[in-house]
Amino acid sequence: MIVDRQIQCAECVSDVDHCHDALLRHADGSLECTGADCVDLASVRHALSIDCAELQGGCGCVEATRDELLAS
Ligand SMILES: [Zn+2]
Ligand SMILES: [Zn+2]
Ligand SMILES: [Zn+2]
Repeated sequence: MIVDRQIQCAECVSDVDHCHDALLRHADGSLECTGADCVDLASVRHALSIDCAELQGGCGCVEATRDELLAS
């Protein structure tokens, strides 16, 4: 008997539509998934969501928002 199955998450087992990648919440409120082939950015599909400000090296949109705040 060959055990070739990895341990899967509950959603995979139950065939629920979901995403294993992280949902990025940008400072301007927009959403982005780190998965290139993600088809739906609904937060409920993502087990992991992070603010882009927490990204290593930061996110370009944070700087843009900061400039906008300074300009206004
Ligand atoms: Zn899964
Ligand atoms: Zn961002
Ligand atoms: Zn995704």
